[in-house]
Amino acid sequence: MRLRALAPAKVNLCLLLGGARGDGRHELVTLFESLSLFDTLTLQTLSAGSADVVLCPGVEGENLAGRALAALRARGWGGPPVAVTIDKRIPVAGGMAGGSADAAATLRLAMAIAPGRAEEVDAIAAGLGSDVPAQLLPGVSIGTGAGDLVERVEPLAPHALVVVPSRLELPTASVYEEADRLGLARPGDSLQARAAELYAALSPGAVLPDSLVVNDLQPAAISLCPEVGSALEAVKRAGAEQALVSGSGPTVVGIWWGGDASLRASAAAASLAGRFPGAAAAGPVDAGAAMPELID
Ligand code: ATP
Repeated sequence: MRLRALAPAKVNLCLLLGGARGDGRHELVTLFESLSLFDTLTLQTLSAGSADVVLCPGVEGENLAGRALAALRARGWGGPPVAVTIDKRIPVAGGMAGGSADAAATLRLAMAIAPGRAEEVDAIAAGLGSDVPAQLLPGVSIGTGAGDLVERVEPLAPHALVVVPSRLELPTASVYEEADRLGLARPGDSLQARAAELYAALSPGAVLPDSLVVNDLQPAAISLCPEVGSALEAVKRAGAEQALVSGSGPTVVGIWWGGDASLRASAAAASLAGRFPGAAAAGPVDAGAAMPELID
């Protein structure tokens, strides 16, 4: 049996940074949105006695999708052995949670061939990384805690984005260290006040105001990778109504709102692609785009 599932990248349309917690992670309030920029995962069932395998050309070392399978097995998941092949399109270490999206898609695929308990899958996702729970059911969501406590949110007003990848990679841990060095974390009362503004702004079909399209990690990403600042300027010059770094960067995202947003974003992507290879227009996607499909 073979199944396929798409793993959408995410952008943090708003990322509010709080202080470091006892577990070393930071308190966050963040608005995740899944985008039409996908890795494609293919799961092939193998004969009994085979070992699970993950193939992911372009990504060295232990794969988060492999860790997802191992965690399922450790909790007694009884599916047949599987080979998961990942066709990467999401920039690696780009702040778009590609690894987390692949791990979440692996969990969706595994559940499609042999069901498990939803609470177990949620616990596995949380154990794999702060960004994995939000990717289990792609769409728009708010993450609190370390970003791992996820609440679904209604889709926003029509909008489109341009994703500008960097040829550089930024390890997430380095960006958080730099944020600490720069003192970027908000005190608890400021974090709560801004979070309340975000919740209040999120009625169905809302346009996010400029004051909420912020990423508190952005100064840290620019400090470590000044090219990020140039990309932000270029995206704004290309007409983006709002622009910010995605997650811990270095990918930059421009946003256009309105019924003709995708046309305007596509034109901007074309104008940026010469100087920024890989710049491409994208739009929001919901969970329906990411559900496993039987191939044969
Ligand atoms: P996040 O925003 O969740 O921190 P990111 O988008 O910045 O993530 P990823 O692309 O998820 O970064 O990758 C971070 C690191 O994880 C990579 O450098 C790579 O070594 C490792 N990794 C493990 N599995 C994967 C995968 N399936 N895809 C990409 N990277 C992976």
